Amino acid sequence: MHFLVTNDDGVDAPGLLALAQEIRKLGRVTVVAPDKNWSASGHVKTMNRPLRVKEVILEDGTKAFASDGAPSDCVALSMLGLLGEKIDCVVSGINPNANLGHDVTYSGTVTAAMEGTISNIPSIAISLDAPEFHTGPLDYLAAAQVARVVVEKVGKNKMPGNVLLNVNVPYLPFNEIKGFRITRQGLRVYRDELVRREDPRGRPYYWIGGDAPTGVPEEGTDIGALNGGFVSITPISLDLTAYDCLEQFQSWNIGK
Ligand code: MN
Repeated sequence: MHFLVTNDDGVDAPGLLALAQEIRKLGRVTVVAPDKNWSASGHVKTMNRPLRVKEVILEDGTKAFASDGAPSDCVALSMLGLLGEKIDCVVSGINPNANLGHDVTYSGTVTAAMEGTISNIPSIAISLDAPEFHTGPLDYLAAAQVARVVVEKVGKNKMPGNVLLNVNVPYLPFNEIKGFRITRQGLRVYRDELVRREDPRGRPYYWIGGDAPTGVPEEGTDIGALNGGFVSITPISLDLTAYDCLEQFQSWNIGK
């Protein structure tokens, strides 16, 4: 198996290194990641400027590629022939913060996996639910081990088309994690606030501030699973059609 490991926090992020080291136990790993932090950048396709790629050496001495493109660009570049060889699986992460509910539409971690899914390659996004006020370096070991367990299962089973796995891991040592739950997206509660300030020249600028999002820890959801100390695995469909609503909108009789 040849794995493409990427992330949205940048090629220097410790979560990427931990993930690459653990996935290397399952096969060959190529790391192609952005050269800067693209967190909350959504699904990007860079079309109006050239993309550059350079070789870099990670902290453990292994080779990686850094691109000035977005996470999804890194996956697209790799799929379209940058590496000159086929990729069997895309693993994106480990993001330091959970990607739950509506977060998946913002997340560079998840949208990198989406890009793999669009190319029909099994793709997994991994995020760690680090405590909000954690200081100092995070321990990614348990999340990396969880990633290996899930990726191994993906290798042994058939992934449905048009679906990626969004995995969120509680911030616990591996042996204290309660287990794995297949979940649906829960309801995120955003607490964004618009901060308006003035720059030194008297012109206003705006900053989307506020507290970190919370969520409704309903049973069966990603938020509920994390809340109970379980790994959450949410199958995410790239078909966003609201099937339940088709009839309702047809009844509007909009026109011919
Ligand atoms: Mn991130």
